[in-house]
Amino acid sequence: MSTQEPMIADTGALFQIAEPTGRQATPRAPGRGIGIDLGTTNSLVAVAPHGEAPRALRDASGRALLPSVVSYVGDDVVVGYEAMAAQEEHSCAVISSVKRFMGRGIADVTWPHPYRLVSASGGGELFRVDVGGGRLVTPVEVSAAVLRALRERAEAVMGPVDGAVITVPAYFDDAQRQATRDAGKIAGLKVYRLLAEPTAAALAYGLDRGGRGLFAVYDLGGGTFDVSVLRLHDGVFQVLATGGDSALGGDDLDRALAAYLFTAGGHEGAPSRHQQELLRIAARAAKEALSERESVRVSVAACGIEGFEVRRETFEGLIDGLIERTIRACRATLRDAGVQPRELDGVVLVGGSTRTPLVRAAVARTFGKHPLADIDPDKVVAYGAAIQADVLSGSAREGVTLLDVAPLSLGIETMGGMVEKIIPRNAAIPIAARQVFTNYSEQQTGMQIHVVQGEREMAGECRSLARFELRGIPRLPPSMARVEVSFQLDADALLTVTARELMTGVRQSVEVKPTYGLNDEEIDRMVIESLDHASEDFAARSRAEARVELGRVVLAVRAALAEVGGLPGVLPAAERSAVEMQLTLADEAMAEPQSAADMLTLLRNQLERASEPFARRRMERALRAGMEGKSLHEIEQALAVEEAALDERRGAHSAETIEG
Ligand code: ADP
Ligand code: MG
Repeated sequence: MSTQEPMIADTGALFQIAEPTGRQATPRAPGRGIGIDLGTTNSLVAVAPHGEAPRALRDASGRALLPSVVSYVGDDVVVGYEAMAAQEEHSCAVISSVKRFMGRGIADVTWPHPYRLVSASGGGELFRVDVGGGRLVTPVEVSAAVLRALRERAEAVMGPVDGAVITVPAYFDDAQRQATRDAGKIAGLKVYRLLAEPTAAALAYGLDRGGRGLFAVYDLGGGTFDVSVLRLHDGVFQVLATGGDSALGGDDLDRALAAYLFTAGGHEGAPSRHQQELLRIAARAAKEALSERESVRVSVAACGIEGFEVRRETFEGLIDGLIERTIRACRATLRDAGVQPRELDGVVLVGGSTRTPLVRAAVARTFGKHPLADIDPDKVVAYGAAIQADVLSGSAREGVTLLDVAPLSLGIETMGGMVEKIIPRNAAIPIAARQVFTNYSEQQTGMQIHVVQGEREMAGECRSLARFELRGIPRLPPSMARVEVSFQLDADALLTVTARELMTGVRQSVEVKPTYGLNDEEIDRMVIESLDHASEDFAARSRAEARVELGRVVLAVRAALAEVGGLPGVLPAAERSAVEMQLTLADEAMAEPQSAADMLTLLRNQLERASEPFARRRMERALRAGMEGKSLHEIEQALAVEEAALDERRGAHSAETIEG
């Protein structure tokens, strides 16, 4: 996968990484944030208003879990248990496990499923599911239906919802995150941020309070197994390694037991579809009961099974091999993370299937410690999201971690199909980074910018996120052109890439979400169809506010540069170039209408920091000039007052900067 007009990395490249700032949690709607665990099998909404302990919100029948199943039978869209009940009869029109399809192209779908997938016309990799009756739905719309049901549940309890934190698996890439975010938007939710599931679970246990530590999160759900190793350092969780099996979960335990029941009922060969379904339902109920009891009696009339006793040991014998597979994945993930089990400060259990006693025993044995399981394992992720949402809604909550990290490295393809990483994996976000590249040959008047995500060295082995072209580069001898590529990654790990030729100023930028996400038109249509527009208006307003603030600081710094920047001793060269680089980054972000509020604020803080020594010297000069003839004591006093004012400003910045 080499570019037509390649570029090479300039060894003397400018390379700057912005410091992260805390998210600006300006009090807006304290207590009106909700946390959502959007699961493959089950979803859940929880709240923790005003610093209260988190609690899950229940439906009218008192059930907290909402099966992530959406039925498109007839004209209605039905979500949850009712949809699940229609599944056997209408397998093509009732969609379950849609999370697997999120952010995926049609070519990525290699697992078995009963649906009819249709390529979208001209939409590249985009596809829809044909649910019959002339209706085509995208995976994003299906997820949005689940999210909308949860939003409505919350609104019935607490009135208007301001925004939501939605959790995603730690390994979700940019396209999968983007798809989740789009689904939230379509459901009429302001998505405060996406949060990694293991991080959410760790937050629910308050593991962030200790400031540092190493944790493992073992998550066995309905259809997937995920294990993550997290490092908490200075209040920031970093995912050191993730592993697992995307085709192993509670459903497999059900299948193992169902197969046993069928044989035990004296049958040979294969059960019919109908029998299979009844066996599966009975097996699931028996499995769940066996978490509490030593034995259960099972009846499946259609298979001639009547009051058949299943003992826990028998069940454990059936699933032992499956659990062993999760343990092998744990060992591999610990190895990847370079962590010994005894170094871990804690192991957290997540997912309904971790109620199975054999799972708990296996985890305890492998990690050499009792796993944390006092919080309901199928609610713990939603609880962490609720705590985070409470903070982001503006509630004052003591010492809760707000930073997240980039899940995978982001970079561009360079000469020879190699990857130059621009934002490293695990960098705290939001982050802005840039790097200067140069031309390869004199014939070159354009550059292909190929944005990739992943840890591999070769672009062909990373996930391709976007390609765009920068044209109109002047013909220059090799290595003379200067093309600066800047990456801006916002608090949800969504990326904007800008390329600029420094001599001519030609520029091109792209918001990265092309091949897999929905296009803007489609999102707009869906948003119009959805009930709530408030969230966009709000986002646009906070962007506008942040833009004005940044513009104000840019003007002030430019005015100061023009006034005294040239005087001897006021602005050393190194400092001047730092200030100028920040000014350029600020100009670029302001020129881009879609720059996120977070990013604009981050750039403002950086510009203020970079120009602070300059501001101080300028102030000292001004004071000295005004103080000629005054006593040394008077001058010192006046300086002290000004310094205190500056320190106060600096104090405000470092409070926003958790890592510094
Ligand atoms: P996901 O994260 O995939 O949405 P969940 O965490 O909700 O899934 O887990 C669902 C799985 O948990 C199902 O396979 C369900 O049978 C299983 N489960 C729920 N309760 C129990 C229990 N008491 N004992 C064993 N398994 C259980
Ligand atoms: Mg889950």
